[in-house]
Parts: sequence; C-alpha cells; structure tokens
Amino acid sequence: MKESSGRLVIATRNAHKTQEIREMVGDRFEVVDATAFAELGPVEETGRTFLENARLKALAVSSRVGGIVLADDSGLEVDALGGEPGVHSSSYGGEEGNHARNNARLMAEMEGRAERSARFRCVMVLAEGGAELAHFDGAVEGRILVGPRGEGGFGYDPLFAPEGHDESFAELGSEVKNSLSHRGRALARVIVWLAENR
Ligand code: IMP
Repeated sequence: MKESSGRLVIATRNAHKTQEIREMVGDRFEVVDATAFAELGPVEETGRTFLENARLKALAVSSRVGGIVLADDSGLEVDALGGEPGVHSSSYGGEEGNHARNNARLMAEMEGRAERSARFRCVMVLAEGGAELAHFDGAVEGRILVGPRGEGGFGYDPLFAPEGHDESFAELGSEVKNSLSHRGRALARVIVWLAENR
C-alpha cells in the first residue's frame, strides 16, 4: 500500500481505541477521531448487536464528515454469564464508560465460578458518504482472572488473559495486545480491504 493514503476518521470518542488503531495503522493513514469534529454529537448505540451499533456510528459520522470513516463496536462476552456484558460492556456497572464500576460488577458476578472462559469481540464498519463499504470482525478467546492485574490498556484488560498467556492484557503491553486482540484482528482485515480497494 502507498504511504499515507489519506485520512481515516474513527467514529469514537474513546482515546484508548483511537490510540490502538493509530498504532496498528502506522503511517498508512492519518488517523483522527470524532473529537476532531465539534459539530458531531454522540451517536445513540441502540442496536442489539455489535454490527448494528458499529453501523449506526459509521453511517451517522460518514454522512457528516468527508472521507472514509471506520466505526468499531466491541465488548466482552463471558460464557458463564450467557454472553454478558456483550453490547452492554461499556455500561455494565451502571454508568457509561466507568471502567472501575464495570470491572467491580464483573468480579462480583464471577465470584466463585469455575467456568471462566470469555472472549473480546469487535466488529468494524467502513463507510463513506452515509453508505456502508464493508464490515469485518475479530475475536480473541481467553479467560476472566480472579482479580485485576496490570496497569496498561483500558476497560476490562486487567481482568482478561488471552489464550496461551498467564498475564492479563493490561500486563502484556500494547504491542502484544495489538497483535492478538479482537480489534487488532478486525483491523488487519480492514487494512487488507483498504489496500485492495483504495
Ligand atoms: P463500545 O465503545 O461501545 O465499543 O464499548 C466497548 C466497551 O467494551 C468498552 O467500554 C470496554 O468496556 C469494553 N472493551 C472493548 N474493547 C476492549 C479492550 O480492548 N479492552 C478492554 N475492554 C474493552
């Protein structure tokens, strides 16, 4: 692919997500996010699936901002909790985006449970001019730890150890996390699509 093929607008206000995507995209695109556009209000995530929510964000932002827009919707699915928190991951503890409360609720729900398998899942939608170009998914299997470990990452990272590792995502560091993560895997597919189609 050409170096710096243009601008990629990430339909998020989550600085951690933007930073992860920027690290993975490298210099292929200039990565900016929704915080760069004062006129954009928040998009209500009313979908029942990651795909529905990613689509809502991608279409809303790309109808108002020029260039290619990438929206990501992601979350944690815990088997012992019937797939929860799932699309409710960011407000699981009762307050949108409060990671400490989300993690406290997850710990409480998982207390004493032997079955701890879980996965992070991510769906990404590319859109332009209010229309979807393509969508992609990525997942990473792992398990919920009995207590938080590590200082890196964000969200549920201190409580999740990916398959094949004893350390949590918060302990493994961004390079290892990005190479294994749901977001890294979905983004690798996005990058291949952009290289072939743009
Ligand atoms: P979204 O912004 O609606 O996609 O919500 C994503 C939520 O899922 C975040 O607020 C986190 O709680 C959780 N999540 C998604 N990806 C990650 C990750 O890579 N590490 C930890 N938590 C994540």
